[in-house]
Amino acid sequence: MRAMAKLYFHYSTMNAGKSTALLQASHNYIERGMQTHLMTARLDHRAGEGRIGSRIGLSAPADTFGPETDLFDALALRLKGGPCACVFVDEAQFLTEDQVWQLARAVDDLNLPVMCYGLRVDFRGKLFPGSAALLALADEMREVRTICHCGRKATMVVRRDAEGRTVTDGAQVQVGGNETYLSLCRRHWREATGDRPRG
Ligand SMILES: [Zn+2]
Repeated sequence: MRAMAKLYFHYSTMNAGKSTALLQASHNYIERGMQTHLMTARLDHRAGEGRIGSRIGLSAPADTFGPETDLFDALALRLKGGPCACVFVDEAQFLTEDQVWQLARAVDDLNLPVMCYGLRVDFRGKLFPGSAALLALADEMREVRTICHCGRKATMVVRRDAEGRTVTDGAQVQVGGNETYLSLCRRHWREATGDRPRG
């Protein structure tokens, strides 16, 4: 009997190396002669359309999804093309709640393991919709860790504009802007966003 497939959520803050971790995990299957299926959000153009890229230079081709993509249908179709040991989804914070359910159905009904990688919270400290649904529905969760400049675990992210000023409002997703992101521990995030420590 085959092991039961699971829905995994590997979450992190910015610049924690989650795309690197995804590509490495996929490579581990390929090295053993198995096939994987990679997907990423369509709005991510950092590595070019239909590629997952990491900051250390690794990259691999990937299918893209938009908010209208039915991921259950996409994965059922993928399975008709041949065996697939594991599905990897990058930028999973951009999934809709419906799409997370579609992935959960692919896990349960197609017995297909699905590993999602995404950011937990945005620069305002709010959960992304895809991450909220994954935190609710995933069978297993793991944190991809990175650290703040102070050495504590970074769990938060600040957005900075082109002049390096911290931004505390605006759209959750900004595409093609000049802003940068910095991962911080909660204490330093509070400081950066203007909340003064008391006592
Ligand atoms: Zn810190």
